Amino acid sequence: MSSKTKNNIVSTIEPPVELDVAAIRADFPILDQKINGHTLVYLDSAASSQKPREVINALLEHYRHNHSNIHRGLHTLAERSTEGYEKTRSHVAQFIGGVPTEEVIFTSGATESLNLLAYAWGDLNVHEGDEIVITEMEHHANIVPWFQLAQRRKAILKTIPITVCGHLDLSNLDTIITPRTKIVALCHMSNVLGTINPVAEIAEAAHKKGAIVVVDAAQSAPHTTIDVRALGADFVAFSSHKMLGPTGVGVLWGRSELLEEMPPFNTGGEMIREVRFDKITWNELPHKFEAGTPNIAGVIAFDAALSYLDKLGMYNIHHHEMEITRYAFERLSELDGLEIQGPQVVEDRGGTISFTDPVIHPHDISTFLDSHGIAIRAGHHCAQPLMRVMGKVATARASCYVYNDKSEIDALVDCLKDMRKYFGV
Ligand code: PMP
Repeated sequence: MSSKTKNNIVSTIEPPVELDVAAIRADFPILDQKINGHTLVYLDSAASSQKPREVINALLEHYRHNHSNIHRGLHTLAERSTEGYEKTRSHVAQFIGGVPTEEVIFTSGATESLNLLAYAWGDLNVHEGDEIVITEMEHHANIVPWFQLAQRRKAILKTIPITVCGHLDLSNLDTIITPRTKIVALCHMSNVLGTINPVAEIAEAAHKKGAIVVVDAAQSAPHTTIDVRALGADFVAFSSHKMLGPTGVGVLWGRSELLEEMPPFNTGGEMIREVRFDKITWNELPHKFEAGTPNIAGVIAFDAALSYLDKLGMYNIHHHEMEITRYAFERLSELDGLEIQGPQVVEDRGGTISFTDPVIHPHDISTFLDSHGIAIRAGHHCAQPLMRVMGKVATARASCYVYNDKSEIDALVDCLKDMRKYFGV
């Protein structure tokens, strides 16, 4: 039995199964090391996650026993590689809600998926005076392609603002999304604030005005159940490397009617049906959008990452991260003046916690923590417009995943206290 929360994260009415973090950690060889003399505490999964042994082995297994180019070969290795590659496509299709496999396109990452859309759908459909709506909390990957599209097509880029609490301010949505709006592109989960956005509600408003909806799920796909149709999305982008899989693999899901009418983005081998010097016809979906030799090993090993996530259960993962986040909020409140950005209600957010100290710069926080074996991220997190809205130059960001536990939050908070002593604050 399942039901949907207001943010379209599928929840079940059964209680979540607690993750066995000790057993999970044993699957991640990289975690078993000392950094600067201290046990590694990895709290930077929002930037990139670590990989379980199953994923590392899948990469090795592919190169040791199965590697060949895919699709065209008639020999055994070509068949094995093609089968492995297409198996991952089917798995992704299941993972995002049971969509047709031809709607799943492999790219090099969420960034490429969004660029593909801005060029292939955008150049075809956006004209002078049209509007593209994004939000103030977007990652540069979901700003720059639309900015460039607006420049190319003399269109207008508009933004949905955020409230002081780090939610989208939907009070003027009706005037922001208009009949001139062609695209509404937004993140499902913010990589800075952790906010989980009410995508379905915004999608409904966008569709009423005839716009398409592009969802940047780079931060949500690793942490929550994603049902692309329940989200009301027309296109969804995400990256394998943030969800236990290899780098260099991304996904673009799109409704087949829209993908069919789009021209290709990259051109070359694989994406054609027939090439003549006076006429070229395109291959069928999804191959039309996969020119050249893709990241075969990466895609094949991504299947192992998805299986690992399936085994744990996305609902259980989400619950685990909510518990850690709740604990982190409690413990971080022991530090006077430390400011956590974004929603303060754990149910409205993911496990990415951006914070600032009133005196110590985020870069100094990160450097101090690293000298004690704790990996976090500091900077603008590829969200400079959001930083400007927040009135910050940078934040420190700790982000958790399946292999983190509360003792690591203790290590973080204790170290932040030591840091204040060290800096004489
Ligand atoms: N969108 C968001 C919200 C992200 O956090 C990221 C990665 N930091 C991206 C897009 C881009 O992902 P990638 O670098 O894997 O293409």
